[in-house]
Amino acid sequence: MKIFIDGKLCSEQDAKVSVFDHGLLYGDGIFEGIRIYNGRVFKLKEHIDRLFYSAKAILLDIPMSHAELMKATVDTCRANDLRVGYIRLIVTRGVGTLGLNPRSCKNPSVIIIANTIQVYPAELYAHGMSIVTVPTVRNLHSALNPAIKSLNYLNNILAKIEANNAGVEEAVMLNSEGFVAECTADNLFILKNGALLTPPLSAGALYGITRGTVMELAEKAALKVSEPNLTRYDLFNADECFLTGTGAEIMPVVKIDGRVIGTGQPGPLTRKLVEEYHALTNSTGEPIY
Ligand code: PMP
Repeated sequence: MKIFIDGKLCSEQDAKVSVFDHGLLYGDGIFEGIRIYNGRVFKLKEHIDRLFYSAKAILLDIPMSHAELMKATVDTCRANDLRVGYIRLIVTRGVGTLGLNPRSCKNPSVIIIANTIQVYPAELYAHGMSIVTVPTVRNLHSALNPAIKSLNYLNNILAKIEANNAGVEEAVMLNSEGFVAECTADNLFILKNGALLTPPLSAGALYGITRGTVMELAEKAALKVSEPNLTRYDLFNADECFLTGTGAEIMPVVKIDGRVIGTGQPGPLTRKLVEEYHALTNSTGEPIY
């Protein structure tokens, strides 16, 4: 495997970062997870844009332009001969002293790993997932805004551990006011009376690229889409529920906190969106070859 680090493609053995990198010492950095389908990088521009927005929010100067980063991403996929897969694009604050002051870090590091992806078992896509609400609340946007896709994922990891302890794969995370924010690595949608609802960014959701794509698909299908605050009561009484994420794609949810959602099977609108999403992933994106 060839890995891009600071302008060079190197072998997996040589792809190393310093123990003084503040990405490691403090989680000081940002990242993106991007999919490759059918020889194309899906929604590459949107991911690079979001990376730059995250960078701006944490005052991190990415030492490459949008265009250079897009080219480096595509080149890394080509160097690894990939037609399907997953890209992890990381920008760390770089090497500094042991103190947390980012001023000691002079050169942010850019790392691009293009590899395969392990998705959830096909069985879950066919029959839907059970999820639970966990006690760990989503980071306050006034503390560490969940819109920043930072290397500091401990908030999500704690929630994931709680989901695992409850015997499920994903967790509903509420914000400090008790409204639904999102899941540990996915956004959440419900369908109620023919309208699609998803929590607003102000509730603590990431501005998910898949979330945006699904909203566009729904609007094209003349479905009403809105972003109100949602409570667990709204989830329990939904007609359909699904999660969205670059890795998970669209995952039907059939049970939340022991309450059966809708018919207990992936709903017809969820299935239709899954079909349309796959049609889009297979036909659009930045060509690698
Ligand atoms: N929320 C969180 C916390 C995430 O980490 C992710 C990315 N896996 C998402 C939502 C989904 O975002 P996207 O559709 O851009 O992958």
